[in-house]
Amino acid sequence: MDFELSPRAEELRDRVRGFMGEHVFPVELEALRALDDEVRPGVPYPEVLIELRERARSEGLWNLFMPDERYGAGLSNAEYGVLCEEMGRSPAVAPMAFNCSAPDTGNMEILAEHGTDEQRRRWLEPLLEGEIRSCFSMTEPEVSGSDPTTLRTEAVPDDGEWVINGHKWFTSGAVGADVAIVMCVTEPEGHPYGRASMILVPVDNPGFDLVRPVPVMGHDGGPGHCEIRYEDCRVPESNLLGERGAGFVIAQDRLGPGRIHHCMRAIGTAERAIEMMCNRANERETFGGKLADKQFIQDFIAKSRMETDQARLLTLLAAWKMDTQGKRAARQEISMIKVVAANVVMDVLDRAIQVHGALGMSDDTPLAGMWRFSRMLKVADGPDEVHKMVIARRELNRAAKRAQGETPESAPEPAKAAG
Ligand SMILES: Cc1cc2nc3c(=O)[nH]c(=O)nc-3n(C[C@H](O)[C@H](O)[C@H](O)COP(=O)(O)OP(=O)(O)OC[C@H]3O[C@@H](n4cnc5c(N)ncnc54)[C@H](O)[C@@H]3O)c2cc1C
Repeated sequence: MDFELSPRAEELRDRVRGFMGEHVFPVELEALRALDDEVRPGVPYPEVLIELRERARSEGLWNLFMPDERYGAGLSNAEYGVLCEEMGRSPAVAPMAFNCSAPDTGNMEILAEHGTDEQRRRWLEPLLEGEIRSCFSMTEPEVSGSDPTTLRTEAVPDDGEWVINGHKWFTSGAVGADVAIVMCVTEPEGHPYGRASMILVPVDNPGFDLVRPVPVMGHDGGPGHCEIRYEDCRVPESNLLGERGAGFVIAQDRLGPGRIHHCMRAIGTAERAIEMMCNRANERETFGGKLADKQFIQDFIAKSRMETDQARLLTLLAAWKMDTQGKRAARQEISMIKVVAANVVMDVLDRAIQVHGALGMSDDTPLAGMWRFSRMLKVADGPDEVHKMVIARRELNRAAKRAQGETPESAPEPAKAAG
């Protein structure tokens, strides 16, 4: 393993760090409130974020996620990972400032890879320019999102158009989005992993009915996690993204890099929480001494540091393996980091909130918002239990092959994708 950063990645990391300190943190709480107050159909970003975005763009800190140099920074997963860690220190605001926020990033990647020239012109270019936002509509309330072979939303070809009928929810970002990438069953008789396709649906299309942003832990503002009904929603056949029946393959394309980005942001969130926990412990006096002098609190801090550093190393290993050996070779590590990082960030945030007492529960610090934001990581993009299932299956497979004197192979990748 070689984790040494290239001079370019190091320079970008320092600039992102500087930008965060100078421009993002001072307006972070204001931006969180503005997202709730100002985002609505046709208004993807609030004014305060528009200003941040213009500044980031003018400084060349834009589309850093894009591995394809034609469209963005052309960084490796390990290089972009360290930038994600910086952005994760303000997970709900900073990625938007740099045009690096989910679900747009994954959507741009698949549009770049699978889109036609016309689709790239109509959707990818304005997304890269930051003029519009997008969402990814896969999960359905009636069936298990962990097992997308059960998806029911259907798209039927009719007279040069797709007619979509179905019910989705947790389509993140739909409130301010212009376009949804919808996973639909187009080949009902096909192989379980060949039944679905991706179709681009403009949100102002008749039959696209945004029912509500689903309240998530008391919060339903901002870009939202939306319930959507597709009712005789007709779009041209040319809105098919990639091949018919390639929905799972395309969903998988979003997964590996997306999970590394999520995990490295989670590590950045944990770092910020440790910093805040230590600052509070050094300041707060109780029972005749500082919190920092109490062993319970020292245990919180020491555990948080050990777990966060372990999670970072495992995530960088996954990124390095993906960069040097490809997505397939890295899939066990990617499943592992998804579980490890999601749990570490929750444990660290919980301790940081505890050390802040009532203040930690309030929205006067970013901790409570980061807790709500980060909790989704244990569910979205494959719940912990599903990742653990496939991690164990691969190990069991390897052991069985070894016992038979064969070369060990891995079990199939779990099929799941989300914001
Ligand atoms: C904040 C947030 C944002 C999201 N954004 C998006 C988005 O933008 N687009 C989108 O399409 N989806 C999105 N999702 C949905 C997410 O992908 C799904 O919630 C996830 O795939 C799980 O599906 P489910 O909710 O149907 O849970 P289920 O599949 O019903 O699973 C429920 C629970 O069952 C258990 N379980 C499942 N399978 C197994 C197993 N094999 N072994 C043991 N236990 C198991 C797990 O504990 C799991 O948490 C988002 C979710 C959240 C919370």
